[in-house]
Amino acid sequence: MAAQRLRLGVAKLFEMSLALGRLSRTYSTSQVFAEVLQLPTRQLTKLVYPLQELERHLAPNTRPELNLRIFDPSLEDIGRAESCFSATARSRIEYLTSAVRLDHAPDLPRPEVCFIGRSNVGKSSLIKALLSLAPEVEVRVSKKPGHTKKMNFFKVGKYFTLVDMPGYGYRAPEDFVDMVETYLKERRNLKRTFLLVDSVVGIQKTDSIAIEMCEEFALPYVMVLTKIDKPSKGHLLKQVLQIQKFVNTQTQGCFPQLFPVSSVTYSGIHLLRCFIANITGNLH
Ligand code: GDP
Repeated sequence: MAAQRLRLGVAKLFEMSLALGRLSRTYSTSQVFAEVLQLPTRQLTKLVYPLQELERHLAPNTRPELNLRIFDPSLEDIGRAESCFSATARSRIEYLTSAVRLDHAPDLPRPEVCFIGRSNVGKSSLIKALLSLAPEVEVRVSKKPGHTKKMNFFKVGKYFTLVDMPGYGYRAPEDFVDMVETYLKERRNLKRTFLLVDSVVGIQKTDSIAIEMCEEFALPYVMVLTKIDKPSKGHLLKQVLQIQKFVNTQTQGCFPQLFPVSSVTYSGIHLLRCFIANITGNLH
């Protein structure tokens, strides 16, 4: 059924591009995604809808536990969202500034999304992957835990601002909690917080502190599972089900659908871009 839907979607896209002779301005996507659309169905599902691919390996009675269809954009929507992440002369994607305190943060009019997670969870790699359609943007990927100690602001065209928050946990700066807490509580244009959890080890103690913070401030947040290329399929499924159960039973503000990603294979990256474009009001 899902495969059939995908095939229909791809066929529709190709029909469209054939009819137009090219991908038109109303449906413009990245070159990368145009290439993704040419993959065989199975590979395409794995890359674009990783949760759907995982669901195939579940026993039918456990399938409904994964909330797959809450955010379920078409390939066309995903393709359209890519244009927000592609730099043009009039819509630049660039690093703006860093700040150690909220009152040093730039006052920006656009909607904002922020990324938080334990040191080494794969946050810089994910941001780099999300912004890879503008490869000239420098996102520092740390080698040592606790490397990112500032809030880094990136302008993503005329669409939104992406904020890379300092990693917490081992060797995090002492004032980390103050900095992050204040930002999360007071940033007026913050639309969504993306909380990263390593799919190899699942929710750790330090992750729970961040989850509690989001819950306490009644923030809308989303759980992103990183490094899904690393664990075996069995281990990944176990973690995904455990985390999904946690989200279903222990959280209020967390978006009920998980976003598994890999910054190495790019699995889940296109879907996450589409989600961000959507919640920042840029998916028309
Ligand atoms: P940060 O401290 O949260 O910014 O984490 P980094 O992005 O620096 O990543 C920490 C380590 O995990 C680095 O060695 C990365 O190469 C590795 N890593 C990050 N994302 C992935 C991923 O999706 N897959 C794999 N296999 N490794 C990853």
